[in-house]
Amino acid sequence: MDFEVSEKMNTILELVGGFVERELVPIEQEMLHGDPARVDEMVAHAQDKVRQMELWAPNHPVEFGGLGLSMVEHGLLSEALGRSPLGHLVFGVQAPDAGNVEILHQHATPEQREQWLRPLVEGAIRSCFSMTEPETAGSNPLLLETTAVRDGDDYVINGQKWFTSSADGAAFAIVMAVTDPDAPPYQRTSMIIVPTDTPGFNLVRNVSVMGHAGSGHASHAEVIYQSCRVPQANLLGPEGAGFAIAQERLGPGRIHHCMRWLGIAGRSFDLMCARANARVIDTDGSTLADRQVIQYWAAELDSEIRGARLQTLHAAWMIDRYGAKAARDEISAIKFSVANTMLKAVDTAIQVHGALGVTDDTILAYWYRHERAARIYDGADEVHKTTLGRRILRRYAA
Ligand SMILES: Cc1cc2nc3c(=O)[nH]c(=O)nc-3n(C[C@H](O)[C@H](O)[C@H](O)COP(=O)(O)OP(=O)(O)OC[C@H]3O[C@@H](n4cnc5c(N)ncnc54)[C@H](O)[C@@H]3O)c2cc1C
Repeated sequence: MDFEVSEKMNTILELVGGFVERELVPIEQEMLHGDPARVDEMVAHAQDKVRQMELWAPNHPVEFGGLGLSMVEHGLLSEALGRSPLGHLVFGVQAPDAGNVEILHQHATPEQREQWLRPLVEGAIRSCFSMTEPETAGSNPLLLETTAVRDGDDYVINGQKWFTSSADGAAFAIVMAVTDPDAPPYQRTSMIIVPTDTPGFNLVRNVSVMGHAGSGHASHAEVIYQSCRVPQANLLGPEGAGFAIAQERLGPGRIHHCMRWLGIAGRSFDLMCARANARVIDTDGSTLADRQVIQYWAAELDSEIRGARLQTLHAAWMIDRYGAKAARDEISAIKFSVANTMLKAVDTAIQVHGALGVTDDTILAYWYRHERAARIYDGADEVHKTTLGRRILRRYAA
């Protein structure tokens, strides 16, 4: 195993790390307390600088101006960007667009690539991924009820979705819908590109999450598809391949998420240690860092974060070398273990900050609100644990 990256990549990682600290961390206070329109302006300005540095959308294929990174390289980049909630957006590699770019790159027709993929990679438009439904268990996509029925040259889509992240302001959605209810379970659904200005695409609301409905990219919409008619040419990949393509989207996507979470864990840990050293806790001038319990937390977290990082890089290396299918155990394991390590890091950093930790004067409370969902989306902890556990135990069956 070798997680070494080229000198060029190391230089890029240093550049990105410096840019995040210097340019993006200062915008966070505006993001937490200021005017959203002003934040959009600041983000657009930072995006321009990233383009000038020729680092825009680095994870995309070379033909689209990206760097054609390996999974390990992309993971390391995601970690560097994850240190600020603005990192991925400012570098043009934010979810859900990054995942959509991957599947469009693999499955889009030449026309779909020109119409949707190119402007998406250029950052001229945003997209969303519309799979989860409020009335069916998202953990089991075989239960999906939204339908897409052929009618002439079109599909007519009906159904209700929610947690269609970033639908607000997106140009198109990739919708998972049942195209053949009588097909074998894993071939019932397809992916269809639906422009959001299609009549029948109804964005009902941005769902309030932990007290914030958000807007634009930072939102999770409820969408009702009501006789929403799109040409059959908008089918992405073969009919009935929705489930298989969704699986493809999730494998590498989990590396991106886990490394982003490690960026969050790393910054939370840094904030925690800085605060522990600065906070005088007794009349003799001693600080929190002099207390054994804090030393214990620092040691424990440092070791857990390092372990989670190696585990994730190993999964990324497995994908690079053997493909996502061969790495499915490793991917399942990091999905739940890294999410929990990240949440523990954020929670412990808040505890060390005391009252300050639950204010919005630091970034910690933002992460506490927004990242709790890490244990739910892209497969809840319990789903990954049961799947992985079953596969492990099968290896021991006589
Ligand atoms: C912030 C956020 C962003 C999201 N973005 C998107 C998006 O962009 N597009 C999209 O389509 N969806 C998105 N989702 C939805 C996400 O994919 C679903 O929430 C997820 O698949 C779980 O589905 P569910 O919420 O219906 O929970 P359910 O399937 O109802 O599961 C509820 C709980 O039951 C338990 N559970 C489930 N299955 C099992 C099992 N087999 N064994 C044991 N326990 C089990 C788990 O604890 C789980 O948390 C997002 C969700 C969140 C929170």
